[in-house]
Amino acid sequence: MNHDESRDLYDRALSVMPGGVNSSVRAVRPYPFFVERGDGAHVVDADGNRYIDYVMGYGPLLYGHDMPDPVRSAVQSYASDGPMYGAPTEIEVEHAEFVARHVPSVEKIRFVNSGTEATVSAVRLARGYTGRDKIVVMEGGYHGAQESTLVEGEPGDTAPSTKGIPASFAEHTVPVPFNDPEAVDEVFEEYGDDIAAVLTEPILGNMGIVHPVEGYLEHLREVTDEHGSLLIFDEVITGFRVGGLQCAQGKFGVTPDVTTFGKIIGGGFPVGAIGGRADVVERFSPSGDVFQSGTFSGHPVTMAAGHAYLTYAAENGVYDYVNDLAETLRRGLTDIVEDNAPSYTVVGTDSMFKTIFTREGPDDLTDACEAGCVQRESCPRYGYCPKNGADVANAETERWERIFWQEMKERGVFLTANQFESQFVSYAHTEEDVEETLEAYKEAL
Ligand code: PLP
Repeated sequence: MNHDESRDLYDRALSVMPGGVNSSVRAVRPYPFFVERGDGAHVVDADGNRYIDYVMGYGPLLYGHDMPDPVRSAVQSYASDGPMYGAPTEIEVEHAEFVARHVPSVEKIRFVNSGTEATVSAVRLARGYTGRDKIVVMEGGYHGAQESTLVEGEPGDTAPSTKGIPASFAEHTVPVPFNDPEAVDEVFEEYGDDIAAVLTEPILGNMGIVHPVEGYLEHLREVTDEHGSLLIFDEVITGFRVGGLQCAQGKFGVTPDVTTFGKIIGGGFPVGAIGGRADVVERFSPSGDVFQSGTFSGHPVTMAAGHAYLTYAAENGVYDYVNDLAETLRRGLTDIVEDNAPSYTVVGTDSMFKTIFTREGPDDLTDACEAGCVQRESCPRYGYCPKNGADVANAETERWERIFWQEMKERGVFLTANQFESQFVSYAHTEEDVEETLEAYKEAL
């Protein structure tokens, strides 16, 4: 493949943008390809190369680069009528009503502009509601580029994981290993009355797709109730993807107090949202005493796109299609991995999938199945699954990023450059795309 145009664009970008990009994950080595346009399940780059896209904008694009007709006409009409006003619109109310009707935890919701803004606001809300400072998070979890969660270390000995965050922020954050109820009990024993919230994704989607083991989310629910702390599910990735319109909380039957959303809920436009119990979410200003505000929040074009997106999904069997196709892909990948690289493993659920390059075979590692993964009854058992961050830390990151990702790209398949970030099947992908993808995996592995 020729990449001259992309390389030239990257040189230009480097001279005016830090790292040449506007989001650090896009700065792949040696340089990213620059996208000219999307087309269904594909993207076409500045040199005219075509790729099957499983990055899907890092998750928002349930329909790939297609817009179903109702979405397209809603977007066009709201964009040409405004595009925004700084005053409320009916479409915000409709979108909020839709989410509240389908997602178990949501009685009230506030829309913001990104997943990061949603988790920042949710943490502030929990602190304001409880009058406490500490937040329990999962090791290896990701909640956006925000001060309270960019933290590393052990409970009681934490530090910011990036420059620019005062150490005092990290002191209030308590990381625990995912899927370890005893570790949670210990931190509640130590800090119980100071813990404002436990914040977790119901399925960790930034650490290789890690499912909760049986009873784990229930345990978080019980222990937070017991101590008067809030349970926050970050469904920025899983929202309206895992468990369909009820999200992962509906699938697992555990209802948090607060849920954060992003990605799909905005129909491909910038979005975030914080939903939850009415008495909690009502604490946002102006009804409550936790300040929250935003020029673009509830942007009419985003609301129209998000609402049309979800309505279309509800009426057209979209989740059945994407989940079945992803299952075909995961099964195909499992066979290929077994033949070519048996220590590697295929993970995923619904329309999420990933191949994790583990350094050691399953015998040396914890198996989430044996640990009681909630999916084990229905799961076809693709292979070894990681149970927490320690397992994932075993992965061959360099091999994925330096070699495999490039090999796939050169074969016309666009994957996430970071091997821990989930990939997505969309409504625009076809059986032929899956076959072509499997062929590329086989050759590249
Ligand atoms: N929470 C989770 C679980 C995410 O995966 C992400 C981003 O990928 C965020 C929050 C942050 O969302 P955004 O990138 O829209 O700020």
